[in-house]
This record gives sequence, structure tokens and C-alpha cells, in this order.
Amino acid sequence: MLDAAVTRRLRQIVGDQHFKDDRQSLVAHSYDGTPMLQSLPDGVIYPESTKQVSEIMKVLAEYRIPIVSRGSGSNLCGGTVPVEGGIVMVMHRMNRILEVDMENLTATAQTGIITAEFTAHIESLGLFYPPDPSSMKISTLGGNIAECSGGLRGLKYGTTKDYVIGLEAVLANGEIIRTGGKLMKDVAGYDLTKLLVGSEGTLAIITEATLKLVPPPKSKKTMLAMYKDLYGAARTVSRIIEAKIIPATLEFMDNPTIRVVDDFAKLGLPRDMEAILLIEQDGDPEAVERDIDLIREICVSEQADRLEVAETREQAEKLLTARRSAFTALARLRPTTILEDATVPRSRIADMVLRINDIARKYNVSIATFGHAGDGNLHPTATTDARDQEEVHRVEQAFEEIFEAAIDLGGTITGEHGVGLVKAPFLEWKIGSAGIEVMKGIKRAFDPDNLLNPGKIFAKETRKRVVIQHG
Ligand SMILES: Cc1cc2nc3c(=O)[nH]c(=O)nc-3n(C[C@H](O)[C@H](O)[C@H](O)COP(=O)(O)OP(=O)(O)OC[C@H]3O[C@@H](n4cnc5c(N)ncnc54)[C@H](O)[C@@H]3O)c2cc1C
Repeated sequence: MLDAAVTRRLRQIVGDQHFKDDRQSLVAHSYDGTPMLQSLPDGVIYPESTKQVSEIMKVLAEYRIPIVSRGSGSNLCGGTVPVEGGIVMVMHRMNRILEVDMENLTATAQTGIITAEFTAHIESLGLFYPPDPSSMKISTLGGNIAECSGGLRGLKYGTTKDYVIGLEAVLANGEIIRTGGKLMKDVAGYDLTKLLVGSEGTLAIITEATLKLVPPPKSKKTMLAMYKDLYGAARTVSRIIEAKIIPATLEFMDNPTIRVVDDFAKLGLPRDMEAILLIEQDGDPEAVERDIDLIREICVSEQADRLEVAETREQAEKLLTARRSAFTALARLRPTTILEDATVPRSRIADMVLRINDIARKYNVSIATFGHAGDGNLHPTATTDARDQEEVHRVEQAFEEIFEAAIDLGGTITGEHGVGLVKAPFLEWKIGSAGIEVMKGIKRAFDPDNLLNPGKIFAKETRKRVVIQHG
């Protein structure tokens, strides 16, 4: 419950209609895209400018009130669940594109804009902003930056961090900082821009971003390779990279995912295949033709059962939609969907998929796997029912073992979804206790009173590692 003086001051800053503390608003902002997590905030605020954000932060700092910045709440790590109460700051009103600089090929925008709206505007000007998380129609640029989101084009074009070159952000004490700029080079001190990318709302509220744009590719070709043998699909991924071809997209779906997506999107996907690879190359037309021919040869030599090259852009879009709808399609199966993003070196994809399948069998849970194979970033997705505590416990044990397997294979506990609440107990497995201490030091430097998204990234206790025996 907020002090009446705080509520009055917050209302004065944003106007009465942009501060809410009615029950419905609090409940609506008590959860996000992550299943089985909920905690009520004490208020919800909707600023429209950096100045307002700064004034809000000054009031909250004075009263030591926690603040959780929120884009669309589509994250999958419990990142916007206000576990310590306080204020949820929704960024949606800060949704303006401030400038597209055609000479420097940069765009500057407020961070509450929906990513797909931003990219559509950029594309209408004949330019290209490659990061394309599957959630781009609902998520915001700020959420993408704070999670360092990836997408289907990550393999060739990189992820959000590769495009953020300047930021404006408000610190816990209300001070405004600016990092980077319209600069391709800048080594003036520590790289605060990169530090804020992926900081999950724990270091500052990011209010504006300057993003690098690139020329759009001249042509694209999309193909589907279908395999009866999972290993064949996985080996194809490694061999494409080994052949020094970097496709724009190299995505994987296993059999359970293929079936569910086909039921959902009615695309006529091959339900009898163990795995499919969705491959897209873009660039100069001759180079695209050459790469697609080489990729086709590799697929055939790895026993692809069938290959299909999209003849039209509509056909290609249909294939990409199939992959983008994997999560939504799986979510229809059972009441609760838990999607993870264990990531391994791409040469270990086959081992990881087999381990996931072994682990799912061991715990008798249903896990389908799809993901950005070219990035080694897999999304093992469990479908379960939160009301069945016993089954949920088995799912949790299975995921714990999946994280451990990823680390064993030289990988990480999260490739793009962030640590948030869900993976905080496992962070030390990846970065060690010394790494945690360095990160805590950075957190203290930015936010000495731990007001910004408290309870995230750092767990009260690290989960004990179990030793996994592999036969
Ligand atoms: C169907 C579906 C598909 C998805 N596909 C992908 C995918 O392909 N790739 C991928 O990487 N992720 C994906 N995600 C996860 C999620 O959409 C991304 O993490 C996304 O970037 C979150 O954006 P958001 O605006 O919803 O942020 P939120 O969920 O609101 O917030 C995410 C985090 O960012 C912080 N934050 C938000 N705005 C700011 C700000 N302005 N300043 C500082 N911190 C801020 C929050 O505090 C929180 O910690 C998917 C999720 C769903 C539901």
C-alpha cells in the first residue's frame, strides 16, 4: 500500500488518468508471459516523457519504493513480476520514432514502441532493422533491449545488442544518462550501452534508443529440408556453417512441434518427419542462388528425405509463420506451457536434442523442441497443467537437468530470454560465484538501494547442482 503523499505526487507528475491503483489494474500487471508467477504491485504508472520518468524515479528513490519497468510483459523469465511490490512503470505511451537519419543510417525512438511498428516504418523508408523476435508484434523495443532479444535472423545479422549504438536512460536516483550515439566507433570509457542491453530493468529505465540500420537484402530464398533422422538435421546445421555459409535463418523443429504447428496453422507440414530445418538466405541474387544450391547439396548428403524451395514470397512467409507460431501452437495443447531457451555451441545441437529427449523420458513429461539451430539456441517446451503439482515438479526437475546438460556441453542457461526470476537460481552455474559478485558490484554502482526490478537476476540461493549420469 502506497503512502497517500506518494500517490499524490505521482498523480501530479503524469496526470490522474495515467496512475492506477485500482484492483483490476494491479492484477493486470501482477504477471507476465511466464507461467505460474504472480505478485501484486502497489500502483501502475504510464509516463509519456523522459522528464516524467526522471521525476517519478526521484519520488520513488525518496521513499525507497521498488520500480519494475514494463513493455508488453511478454518476457518468459518472470522479468516483470513485481515480487517486492512497488510501482510498475508501463512504457507504452513513450512510443514515438524521434528521427530516422538517412545520412548516418540510424533511427532514434522512444522505447515503448511496438517492435513490429518500428520495423514497418523503417522498411517503408527502404531500410532494414534485422532483430525479429517472434513476439515482435506485441513486444516493445525497450523490452527487446532489456532482454537482448534474438530472432529468426540472428545467425547472420546478430541480435538486438548488435544494433543498439546509443541509449538515454534514467537512473534509480532520477538522473538521466546518455550513452554512445550515432557513432560506429566509441571507446570513451566502459561501454555502458552494451552493459544496459540485457540488463533486464535492473540498472536503469531505458527511455530512448539509437539503433543502427542496414540496407535491406536485394533478394531472399527460403527452403524447407525434411528429415527422418534427427541427427541428419543436426549434422546439416554444423556442415552448413563448416562450409562457411551463414544463412539468414536456420531454424529447427522436432516431430512433436511439427505436428502441433500443422494442427494449428494447417500448412501441410510433413507430420511423419523426425525434424525439419527452415533455411533462408538473403543477399545478392547470384550469391543467394549459389548458397542455396550448396545448402541443398549438404541436405541431400545428410539424407534429407525431402526438400522444398518456396517459389513465391507468400509461400516463404507461410513457412516462416509456421516457425513463428510454434510457441502459440504448443500453448493450445495443455493449460500451462513452459518454454526454455538452453543454448549450446551449434556443433552440439544433436547431442542437446537427444539429451532433452532422454530427460523428458526419464521424468515422464512431454517436451517438444524447436529453435534457432544456427545459433545453438533451442526452445525445449513443456506442456503441462499448473494444477497438477506432482507433474509440474517433474517438469521443473527435467528443466533443471536440461540446464545442467547445456552447461555440460559448453552452453548456457539462457540464450535470449534472460535470467529474471526463473533462472536466477541457476546463474552461478554459468558464471561462477566470482562472476556473481562482479555483477552485484555493477548493480550496486547503478542502484545502491536495490529499487530497480528487485529480486531479478540474483537469487537468494543458488540451486545445488546434481551430478547427471549419462549412459
Ligand atoms: C509468443 C512469444 C514469442 C517470443 N519470441 C521470442 C523470440 O523469438 N526471441 C526472444 O528473444 N524472445 C522472445 N520472446 C520473449 C519476449 O517477447 C522478449 O523477451 C521481449 O523482448 C520482451 O519485450 P516486452 O516489451 O514484452 O518486455 P517486458 O516483458 O515488458 O519486459 C522484459 C524485461 O525488460 C525490462 N524492460 C522493459 N522495458 C524496459 C525499459 N524501457 N527500460 C528498462 N527495462 C525495461 C523489464 O523490466 C523486464 O525485465 C517471446 C515471447 C512470447 C510470448
